[in-house]
Amino acid sequence: MEPFDYRRPGDAATAVRTVAADPSAVFLGGGTNLVDHLKLGVASPGLVVDVTSLTSSEISDHDGGLRIGAAVRNSDLAADRRVRERYPMLARALLAGASGQLRNMATTGGNPLQRTRCVYFQDVTTPCNKRSPGSGCSAIGGYTRYHAVLGASPECIATHPSDLAVALTALDAEVQVLGPVGERTIGFGELHRLPGDRPDRDTVLEHGELITAIDLPEAPIAVNSTYRKVRDRASYAFALVSVAAALRVENGIVRDSRIAFGGVAHKPWRATRAEEVLLDAPATEATYRQAAEAELADAVAVDGIDGGNGFKLPLLVNTLAATLRDLTGEAK
Ligand SMILES: Cc1cc2nc3c(=O)[nH]c(=O)nc-3n(C[C@H](O)[C@H](O)[C@H](O)COP(=O)(O)OP(=O)(O)OC[C@H]3O[C@@H](n4cnc5c(N)ncnc54)[C@H](O)[C@@H]3O)c2cc1C
Ligand code: SF4
Repeated sequence: MEPFDYRRPGDAATAVRTVAADPSAVFLGGGTNLVDHLKLGVASPGLVVDVTSLTSSEISDHDGGLRIGAAVRNSDLAADRRVRERYPMLARALLAGASGQLRNMATTGGNPLQRTRCVYFQDVTTPCNKRSPGSGCSAIGGYTRYHAVLGASPECIATHPSDLAVALTALDAEVQVLGPVGERTIGFGELHRLPGDRPDRDTVLEHGELITAIDLPEAPIAVNSTYRKVRDRASYAFALVSVAAALRVENGIVRDSRIAFGGVAHKPWRATRAEEVLLDAPATEATYRQAAEAELADAVAVDGIDGGNGFKLPLLVNTLAATLRDLTGEAK
C-alpha cells in the first residue's frame, strides 16, 4: 500500500473544499471498497478524507417519501420499518448484498459508488482501461461471465456491482450532492455513466462532490415490490443478473410498473422498454417474457474463455418473469 495522509474535517463543506483542492484526494465512507483498493494498489490517493461523521446518519420523513443520510449504514437502512413496509425492494436488495459485517460498515453514500468487480480491474498486473486509461481491456477475450450485455463499449464491458443502486434506480431516487460550487440534485438514473470512451468515469460526479443524502420519493406502487438476485452462490456473491420490480395490477391488467436490472450493464439499468410493454397489458407470463425480450432487443453477448455471458439473456427473461409472478402472487 502506498503511504497517504488522513484527515477528518469538522464539517462537510471543509471536506468538500479539501478534496476539491487536491486532485489526489478521495472521500472515505465505510471503507469496505476503498480500503481494499488501497491494499491492492487499484487506488493510491495522496489524501484520504473521512466523511462518515460529516453527513447525517438519520432516515427522516421527507415530502411524502424518505430522506436517507449518506452516513446511514446499509444494515440500519435494511432494518428500518418504513423502508421494509413502503419500499420492500430496497430492504431486500440490501440484504442480498455482501455480509452482515460488511453491511454494518457500508454507507448509503459509499455503496452506489463502489467500483466494478471485474477481476482485471482489481489485478494491477493486467491492462484495464477503467483503472489505467488507454491500456486496453483484458476482459475482451478473457473472463466475461460477470460482464455486460447492455450498453457496453469497445473500451469496457464491466458491470456495476451494487444491489442497492438497482433498487434506487427503479424507485426514481434522487441524490443530494454538495460540491465546491454549491448543492445540486441528481436523478439516481443519471448518476452512473455508460463506459463509452471514458470507462474510468463511473459517474457524473465531479471531483470533490460529496453525496450528502439520497431521497426516496413517495411511491405507493413500491409497497408491492421486490428484489430478486441470481448468483453463483446463495450468499456473499455478486449478481449474475438481478431484478428490482414494483407492480400494480387491476383486474388482471398491469396499470403501472417500475423495473431495473443489475448485473447486465456498466450502470444499474432502468428497463423502460419493459415497462412500456407491461403498461395496460394482461398480467400474464407471456407479457412478462415479452417485456424482458423487448428490453434485451439491443443486448450483445460477449464470448470469453469461461464460455462467455450469453447465458444472461435467457436468465434475465426467466428472472423478470419469476419476479413479476411473485408480485402477482403466482410464484411457481
Ligand atoms: C467480500 C465483499 C462482498 C460484497 N458483496 C456485495 C454484494 O453482493 N452486493 C453489493 O451491492 N455490494 C457488495 N459488496 C460491496 C459493498 O457493499 C461496498 O463495498 C460498500 O457498500 C461500499 O460502501 P462504503 O461506505 O464502505 O464505501 P467506501 O469503500 O468508503 O467508498 C466507496 C467509494 O465511494 C466514495 N465515497 C464514499 N462515501 C462518499 C460520499 N458520501 N460522497 C462521495 N463519495 C463517497 C469513496 O471515495 C470511494 O470511491 C461487497 C464487498 C465485499 C468486500
Ligand atoms: S471490462 Fe472494464 S474494468 Fe474490466 S478490464 Fe475491461 S476496461 Fe477494465
